[in-house]
Amino acid sequence: MKQRRYMFDLIAASYLADAALLQIYVFAETIPQIVVPAYIGCGFAIVVASIALSEVGFHDRFKDHYLVLPTTLLNLALVMGFSLWAPQVAFLFICSLFIIFSFVPLRATARQSVICWTAMTGMLMVLFISTDTPLAMPHGSLLERLATMLVLVLTVGRCMYIGMYSSALRESLYKRGLQLREAYQRIEEFAELDELTGSYNRRCIMRMLDDEIARADRSAAPLSLALIDLDWFKRINDSFGHPTGDEVLRTFAITIFANIRSFDRFGRYGGEEFLLLLPNTSRDEAHKMLDRLREIVEELDWTAFSPGMRVTLSAGVTAMAPNETAEAVLARADRALYAAKEDGRNKIATT
Ligand code: GH3
Ligand code: MG
Ligand code: MG
Repeated sequence: MKQRRYMFDLIAASYLADAALLQIYVFAETIPQIVVPAYIGCGFAIVVASIALSEVGFHDRFKDHYLVLPTTLLNLALVMGFSLWAPQVAFLFICSLFIIFSFVPLRATARQSVICWTAMTGMLMVLFISTDTPLAMPHGSLLERLATMLVLVLTVGRCMYIGMYSSALRESLYKRGLQLREAYQRIEEFAELDELTGSYNRRCIMRMLDDEIARADRSAAPLSLALIDLDWFKRINDSFGHPTGDEVLRTFAITIFANIRSFDRFGRYGGEEFLLLLPNTSRDEAHKMLDRLREIVEELDWTAFSPGMRVTLSAGVTAMAPNETAEAVLARADRALYAAKEDGRNKIATT
């Protein structure tokens, strides 16, 4: 509605400028005085009716809420009617066509623009056929020449202003586009991350596993992975409370992030179970890395959370065999994890 109001204000200002120019022609005795109030009266009637309808929400009922077609057709009819009534200054009214047609593409669809142009062509045909009086560009006296020059100057000025307005619109659209892209990226980030730990969520880490398997197959580089599970986590929840359990999960994830390489991928597989992908890493190297992570987690001062707290992890490590599926390699890692748990926990088992 605000933008519509601005557009109607611009049209009203344009009619005022035309009325001022017509008044000069009155002083130059080119046209009778009556043309000025008649023109400004008709112009303002269109603008005031449009503003009133817009304010009561009439325009909002339509898909094209600027009502480009009726507004343009009304203004065209007005300009043509006055060209016929005051052909001595038809030049001024015909110049208005340029102003109207720099407005149209701002809001109209291509189809609406073509309809407006066709209507204008029809009206011009009627205008040129219906009168043999010259549609004049007054230049008899100095005052007339001055007024005619001003008509041209102000027409070009108004067209330029509308052009500048449209370029500002384009710029703001471009900025909106950038903001939308940023917002979309943030949404994507949210959709990829696990809310609690900030690690990748299950969907994302599984997709990454498929990608890494495909890449390893292509490049014949080794790919290892580890299923990591926190030991006796149910007891941690039971002894220290669920919120503390959440904090432990968060701290655990941060600790892992701080101790893996930039190209390793770490995601929450479910509950207190995590999947670590280790590209370009052999099974033995992976075992060493996991054992180091196990030590780091074990040696962290968990008593800072709650006196007597101890957190350890167990992990099942495996390396991908050529052409193996994600399911097969995960099942092997799961068996290794089970073996690590059976072995007494706080252990790394490799298959
Ligand atoms: P194990 O050493 O055999 O793995 O024993 P465990 O107690 O860790 O294994 P279990 O699978 O029996 O328990 C996992 C627990 O993890 C149970 C569940 O309440 C807890 N858990 C899962 N997700 C969350 C979470 O997001 N926050 C908290 N605080 N606890 C969670
Ligand atoms: Mg567990
Ligand atoms: Mg578990």
